[in-house]
Amino acid sequence: TSKDSGKNKFSIFDQEMNRHQLRRMSLEKDLRKALARSEFMVVYQPKWDSLMNVTVGLEALLRWRHPEHGIISPGEFIPIAEETGLIVPITYWMLHEVCSQNVLWHKEEVASVAVSINMSARMFETENLYEVVEEALSRSGLPPHFLELEITESIAMNNMEETVAQLSKLRSLGVRVSLDDFGTGFSSLGNLDEIPVNTLKIDQVFIRKSKMHSKKAIISNIIAIAGNLNMEVVAEGVETPEQIELLQSLGCRVMQGYYYGRPMPVSELGQWFTENTAAIYSVRPHFTHT
Ligand code: C2E
Ligand code: MG
Ligand code: MG
Ligand code: MG
Repeated sequence: TSKDSGKNKFSIFDQEMNRHQLRRMSLEKDLRKALARSEFMVVYQPKWDSLMNVTVGLEALLRWRHPEHGIISPGEFIPIAEETGLIVPITYWMLHEVCSQNVLWHKEEVASVAVSINMSARMFETENLYEVVEEALSRSGLPPHFLELEITESIAMNNMEETVAQLSKLRSLGVRVSLDDFGTGFSSLGNLDEIPVNTLKIDQVFIRKSKMHSKKAIISNIIAIAGNLNMEVVAEGVETPEQIELLQSLGCRVMQGYYYGRPMPVSELGQWFTENTAAIYSVRPHFTHT
């Protein structure tokens, strides 16, 4: 009867819920051991200046090599890491890993670009974010302008005063800051000028739908706001020549996306750099070998 099949559906739904919760619980348990077991890996995606045809930066993205499930995407494990607070030690590890790697690229003269790291809201709740970043820089010997922190609008807007104070301190060190996934956070534009950021990163949802007149209008206005506030702009998720042409016509030259390069492990970046010049063109820092 229909009553029975309804009951059945409900139990299947229950089973699905259970399976989901079980996977989550087991991932959480494994995540607690992942750092000690060296299961994390950093991959790097190029930011590309489409006019100069050079790599102008890299974004560091986390990968978890799970011993049984293989590579698990950040979309699945970052939320667990954030809820459990494990994101804090994981980000500390990232900071040291990324800064040391960038020093190596400088010493071997393969690349001279800023590398960005994504910062969860949790990091701004720790009192010593500044000290931790400073320590990663001094231990590795990386000049601060070669490190960039990517934050989202919601981080900047929640507890604005405190976050702005922390960001200003980091900026005064020379560390760069960008606003990630810009346009999706429903932030109040009225405060944007008070957040000390160098760069706006246009979220990939706008690029994906950039054929739509309305999305094009939003992209165009984000570029204008960035320009007027003296910020740089990066388009995320660029996949087609049509998108590149549109973005260029709107005045955006720096792009990140599968069209130019996927996130790559360190072992593949050597070759990438020999084929694609990697240099900062807007900042001309002095890097001293130690
Ligand atoms: P995000 O910071 O906005 O990073 C960009 C994401 O878009 C990356 O996904 C990247 O692989 C993907 N992407 C780049 N180009 C394209 C493209 O052309 N098409 C499409 N469809 N996707 C593209 P990924 O690596 O899976 O990371 C997802 C999100 O997870 C990141 O979004 C970031 O919010 C978070 N995440 C990744 N690594 C870390 C980390 O170390 N710490 C923290 N707190 N979050 C991280
Ligand atoms: Mg990012
Ligand atoms: Mg993004
Ligand atoms: Mg994102």
